[in-house]
Amino acid sequence: MPAPLMLIETTPDLPEAADAVVIGAGIVGVFAAYHLAKRGLKVAILEKGRVGAEQSSRNWGWCRQQNRDARELPMATKSLDLWEEFAAETGEDTGFRRCGLLYLSNNEEELSGWARWRDFARTVGVTTHMLDQAAATSRAETTGRVWKGGVFSPSDGIANPASAAPAVARAILKLGGTVHQSCAARGIETEGGRLSAVVTERGTIRTKLAVLAGGAWASAFCRQLGFRFPQASIRSSILSVGPGEGTIPDALHTAAISVTRRGNGGHTLAISGRGRVDPTAQQLRFAPQFLPMFLRRWKSLAPGGLEGVRSGHESLARWRLDRPTPMERMRILDPAVDEGTIRLTHKRAIELLPALDGRPVTATWAGYIDSTPDGVPAIGEVTGLPGFVLAAGFSGHGFGIGPGAGHLIADIMTGDEPIVDPRPYHPDRFGKSSWGKVADF
Ligand SMILES: Cc1cc2nc3c(=O)[nH]c(=O)nc-3n(C[C@H](O)[C@H](O)[C@H](O)COP(=O)(O)OP(=O)(O)OC[C@H]3O[C@@H](n4cnc5c(N)ncnc54)[C@H](O)[C@@H]3O)c2cc1C
Repeated sequence: MPAPLMLIETTPDLPEAADAVVIGAGIVGVFAAYHLAKRGLKVAILEKGRVGAEQSSRNWGWCRQQNRDARELPMATKSLDLWEEFAAETGEDTGFRRCGLLYLSNNEEELSGWARWRDFARTVGVTTHMLDQAAATSRAETTGRVWKGGVFSPSDGIANPASAAPAVARAILKLGGTVHQSCAARGIETEGGRLSAVVTERGTIRTKLAVLAGGAWASAFCRQLGFRFPQASIRSSILSVGPGEGTIPDALHTAAISVTRRGNGGHTLAISGRGRVDPTAQQLRFAPQFLPMFLRRWKSLAPGGLEGVRSGHESLARWRLDRPTPMERMRILDPAVDEGTIRLTHKRAIELLPALDGRPVTATWAGYIDSTPDGVPAIGEVTGLPGFVLAAGFSGHGFGIGPGAGHLIADIMTGDEPIVDPRPYHPDRFGKSSWGKVADF
């Protein structure tokens, strides 16, 4: 029962040349390609498996400013507008709507943290409402419990992970771009020190501009190019239930459980932050840089198994451009589900929301969340490799900020005024210090 995904058509022939090539058709890659195509560039997007089949269809669908790190908040705010603009411009349905996100807690410390974030958010014009006991309990009537407090962020929303990336890819096709599925990029060529081509399993595309939006595979790809990108992935397991009687909130977070309405009227159920660490050689390589993040999150992480090695996305092996690579051996990263987490999640969800009892479990799946050491994505042209941009390490936030990230990538590639300050995202920061401030999930 894998994560649901809308399938879209593939462009049959690979172009010999393109103005820009996008490697990876997750939400970040498709929005980058969309913004480039909108500016009149001839764009080809390469996807080793299916559009949106990895993290971008396996997430909850939250598009939030609430509790965002200050470095990422401007991009989160712009992205909410861009989700709406995309629908208006293209008529494509990503399922995005500003339903607001509801957070509930009985923990004073957690509530104080949310209040501090509310005070900060006000200074940058973001509205969020703290809820006292009466307001929280009334909004959460369906839980049948009394809550000490909560927070409601009215301008945040959700989109549909099953259809968002494919909907954007359809818009790229309409703008004259090409979408190549089952087509892995194996590497690049350079001329005079700058990018000159992207080499794929089906041939070479001449281009002066490319972005690697390869999600959990990005670090292994960068290693082939001689560029060190510290990245680690956590395996997260979640489930969905079908529609049924009773009122369930559209988007609700508590420490025990989070629920999100899906496009079909069912709900996604998950435990926030919980995941398994599957050790790989890459994780050992970057372990010192991830120590601050690990120390902060260790309570919700558990040791995993050999899934990471089996999947190959964190391979340290060198590969040749004329032979199949690990990307072609693993078209879609589909790690084993942690059955214990699924059972616990389902049980907790029914305890919190009795109306969920009896609804059929429609799917269970796992996804690798790719993270950077400070929990902020890496977006920027790789130093020493003009024309080649890295955009990965979205650290569990990339779905909601995909539109803004895609816009920023297009700005960097075309030299246009950046939609947000690009400096906090530049990958060079990983070479300077591993002890930067770790963002919240
Ligand atoms: C369980 C879970 C819950 C989450 N919840 C949320 C949430 O509620 N809100 C939120 O904002 N974020 C959430 N996230 C995080 C979010 O899903 C990711 O940050 C986001 O989807 C990353 O998008 P991406 O395009 O960078 O990567 P991906 O979606 O992983 O896409 C990368 C693509 O690149 C392709 N690729 C890689 N290498 C190559 C190559 N060499 N050639 C061709 N193709 C290649 C891969 O096949 C893949 O399709 C969640 C993630 C998970 C797993």
